Amino acid sequence: MASPQKIAIITHVNPDGDAIGSSLGLYNVLIQEKHDVTVITPNGYPSFLAWLPACGNILTDEKQHDQVSKVLMEADVIFCLDFNDLKRMDSIADVYTAAKAPKILVDHHLEPTCFTDILISTQKTSSTSEIVYELVSALGKKNLITKDVAECLYVGIATDTGSFSYACNNSRTFEVAAELIKLGIDAEHIHRLVYDTYSEDRMRLLGYCLSEKLKVLPKYQTAYISLTKEDLDKFNYQIGDTEGVVNYALSIDGITMAALFMERDGTIKVSMRSKGNASVNEICRKYFSGGGHHNAAGGNSDLSMAETLEGFEKLLPIIKPVI
Ligand code: 5GP
Ligand code: MN
Repeated sequence: MASPQKIAIITHVNPDGDAIGSSLGLYNVLIQEKHDVTVITPNGYPSFLAWLPACGNILTDEKQHDQVSKVLMEADVIFCLDFNDLKRMDSIADVYTAAKAPKILVDHHLEPTCFTDILISTQKTSSTSEIVYELVSALGKKNLITKDVAECLYVGIATDTGSFSYACNNSRTFEVAAELIKLGIDAEHIHRLVYDTYSEDRMRLLGYCLSEKLKVLPKYQTAYISLTKEDLDKFNYQIGDTEGVVNYALSIDGITMAALFMERDGTIKVSMRSKGNASVNEICRKYFSGGGHHNAAGGNSDLSMAETLEGFEKLLPIIKPVI
């Protein structure tokens, strides 16, 4: 992009490490070319990401709706990062749809829907952050991948692969991570900032999930955890506190599918994970108006918690062949 442009970068609701890492990575690349760049999220981000370079500049629609609307309506280009469906933009969707700027999706989820003019999408990478690295490199701008950019992209790759334990059976992911480390980032320190900064409440919530709220159904190789609003309030829930909880359910020997049901903003947010053949993407698409990846996906249920759990358990004999 030749002359300085007004560029908006939108990422998904309840943003995770890759959502924020890829968005801030791209932001920190583009500002070096003097573009006027704004990263926008529908709602807040977890505090364990707040140290990322320029994280403080993010606009959150929940709190800064008027500013967000102005940025989108005046933008020359709008990037959408790390999501595959307009619904994932939540409260931003209407203004986004009204905005006239060319729109570009950069994403790694399955089956993206058509809500941008340009689609840059592949499922063959660990993360959107890895795609951002490849894009910037392919455009001959590798010199713009500074240490700040590298920290952002590394966080995206590390968090979307569960610290290089899934979605990373690809040597290229490790090559990109190595390139980022060569730029001088401290990967061990980053790991501590992201994973070893639990509040006491968050740690006790995890303990409560595992000791009181975990239901294991060996017949269906399934385990799930459910959290009501009262459960969350008891532990002073903050955004990001349940990040990774569903993976504990999946890590039980013999369990191939896990789910977390969480009462949030008047609906039940569903998070699913699987090992091997079971496609939680298909399950979330079909039953929870969601989607994601083959082994990690999410969605929502508008039923009560009790009805949602009952429905899920009734589903298991039906989907058993795929589990
Ligand atoms: P999580 O369970 O961590 O919220 O999400 C797992 C994966 O599924 C992530 O890649 C996330 O972006 C995607 N995902 C989560 N919820 C939804 C949803 O409601 N719709 C779609 N399309 N994808 C989702
Ligand atoms: Mn991602």
